[in-house]
Amino acid sequence: MNKFIKGNKIFTTKFAENQKLYHDLVENGQHPKVLWVGCSDSRVVPEFIVNANAGDLFVMRNIANIIPPKTANESCTSSALEYAVLHLKVEHIVICGHTGCGGIDTLLKGVPQDSTIADWLQYACSAVKNCDENDDLLLATIKQNILTQVTHLLTFGFVQNRLEKLKIHKWLYDMNSGEISFFDDNSQDWKMFDYSK
Ligand SMILES: [Zn+2]
Repeated sequence: MNKFIKGNKIFTTKFAENQKLYHDLVENGQHPKVLWVGCSDSRVVPEFIVNANAGDLFVMRNIANIIPPKTANESCTSSALEYAVLHLKVEHIVICGHTGCGGIDTLLKGVPQDSTIADWLQYACSAVKNCDENDDLLLATIKQNILTQVTHLLTFGFVQNRLEKLKIHKWLYDMNSGEISFFDDNSQDWKMFDYSK
């Protein structure tokens, strides 16, 4: 752990250099415009991949970037969602999956039924059923899971009630390139961002 203790020392230098930002966040509270729902995978760090600062993203991470539907009564995720939508009044929700997701791979290969991971991954099961078997099954399921979690998101009344002020983004992070693609609702297909804009 020494690496991280020394890391905190390094961070205090950066903290001092960005004192205005950090003090503003203390004095005026957090006002992130984005709720980020991502995977716990250590290789997919939200703040790194979109070059975000402290205070930019309200982050919920779990295995396979899942939001269980309202009927599941999973208060860990629903409370974070409720806080972000009703209290922070975020304007965007990003559900970001990633290539090579171990959670989805486990789902496809079969999880031991006495595992808590199996309990959790049940909320991604419908993504498997909706995949075309001719595709790269892992990647197709990862993509479908992002769409599945958006349908779960919409089971919450407080999300439905704010849809006019809330934009939902379906993103996929490519661990090989660092790039993010998005699901385009109009063409019903995944597209790359035009970085020139
Ligand atoms: Zn993952």
